[in-house]
Amino acid sequence: MTAVVATNETILVVGGGISGVTAALEAAECGKDVVLVEKQPTLGGRVSQLYRYFPKLCHPTCGMEINFKRLKVNKRIRVLTMAEVTSLSGEAGDYTAAVKIAPRYVNENCTACGACAEAVTAEIDDAHNYNMRKIKAAYLPNAMAYPQRYVLDPSVIGTPDADKAKSACKYNAIELDQKEETLNLKVGTVVWATGWKPYDAAKIQPYGYDRIPNVITSVEFERMMDPFGPTGGKLVRPSDGKEAKNVAFIQCAGSRDKNHLSHCSRICCMASLKQSTYVSEKYPEDGAVSIYYIDIRAIDRFEDFYQKVRADKSVKFIKSKVASIVEDQATGNPVLHGVDTEGYHRYANPHDLVVLAVGMEPSVDASKIMKGVAADVSGFIDVNSTTEAVFGAGCASNALDVNRAVQSATAATLRAIQVVNRVSRAEA
Ligand SMILES: Cc1cc2nc3c(=O)[nH]c(=O)nc-3n(C[C@H](O)[C@H](O)[C@H](O)COP(=O)(O)OP(=O)(O)OC[C@H]3O[C@@H](n4cnc5c(N)ncnc54)[C@H](O)[C@@H]3O)c2cc1C
Repeated sequence: MTAVVATNETILVVGGGISGVTAALEAAECGKDVVLVEKQPTLGGRVSQLYRYFPKLCHPTCGMEINFKRLKVNKRIRVLTMAEVTSLSGEAGDYTAAVKIAPRYVNENCTACGACAEAVTAEIDDAHNYNMRKIKAAYLPNAMAYPQRYVLDPSVIGTPDADKAKSACKYNAIELDQKEETLNLKVGTVVWATGWKPYDAAKIQPYGYDRIPNVITSVEFERMMDPFGPTGGKLVRPSDGKEAKNVAFIQCAGSRDKNHLSHCSRICCMASLKQSTYVSEKYPEDGAVSIYYIDIRAIDRFEDFYQKVRADKSVKFIKSKVASIVEDQATGNPVLHGVDTEGYHRYANPHDLVVLAVGMEPSVDASKIMKGVAADVSGFIDVNSTTEAVFGAGCASNALDVNRAVQSATAATLRAIQVVNRVSRAEA
């Protein structure tokens, strides 16, 4: 049974992406006790699935590594992975959170040596890589996982693979009898940082994501470019493995559209501008990028990055909302159809690969968390109209880049600290 000490002076942080990790660290470094709950087996959230960060183009490891180091040394933070808040009741200063913890079947003795993965034969979809490849059913979620501890997938429990994993482990780390458990935690306030998920591209039927292999999404493109990703960092076409040198990006794929997401996700323009640099880097001589856009939204200091990409002769900007994509059966090329609104020319442009810049939607509908927690029209937590001491942080409250997500998390933490300070004064 997992033992967790929590009181109504404890801050519960739900979601261990960059926002939740920031909130937990800020609160703990101000002397508050924190329980950080993450539903995946590792912290890091979607940032750990990026190849590089705009605007500096550094790798996400530089942002996360320092945070993980701070977490490791802070005794005030209790991290629960594979854990989910299933209900929240009570009132400001006195909440009870039900936290369901799924079994990992691997205990803290794990040294991440990988012997269990070598021993098992069963494979599962690799969620970290958006299911673009299979991995062994005993796995480390990603190279920079925190905690650095393997997971045994529940599908192998009760099969010979589970016994093979146990016998291969020299550290007595495999515990096949672990069970799901639920903890009822008393906490004073909650920072809700459950983040975002990519819009389901298959819903944008004219773009054929579910029919045309060489139409992929921006999040998949990030994984493809990562040397630890499904292609080992090679920019190739899913249909035939050929080099993809002529790449199109379609902006607002399902965004700013009443049939899909009505909001603008703010980061998609910057994400595609960043990803255009991946193409130039892979194919400096003959790479070609076309960005189909309604308008480019690169705010504040991001404007400099935009102007730099605009100056690159290998990147073409086509002001147009693409109407449809049809696959050329002979070549496997996706052919984009539409009208260029600057010259009003009809086009039918073939590309090797098309990347849909899909929007971000909240991973949890805020209105379902508890009464008094308000959601905006897109389901993000409305930070200004909540009547509870449940504070939205990062992309749970809006579609934000990392910089703004971190600012939002810090602001939410400040509000949470004020709540537990009030509790502690009332009890003194
Ligand atoms: C294609 C693309 C490229 C991008 N590139 C950049 C970039 O280069 N630079 C940049 O600044 N920004 C970029 N972003 C934006 C960046 O991904 C977000 O700003 C960042 O992920 C926000 O972090 P977060 O912690 O708020 O949310 P998330 O990263 O979504 O983390 C939320 C965490 O909460 C967990 N969670 C969810 N539900 C529950 C639950 N019920 N219980 C417990 N835990 C839960 C999740 O598992 C996850 O770990 C990009 C976005 C896209 C779409």
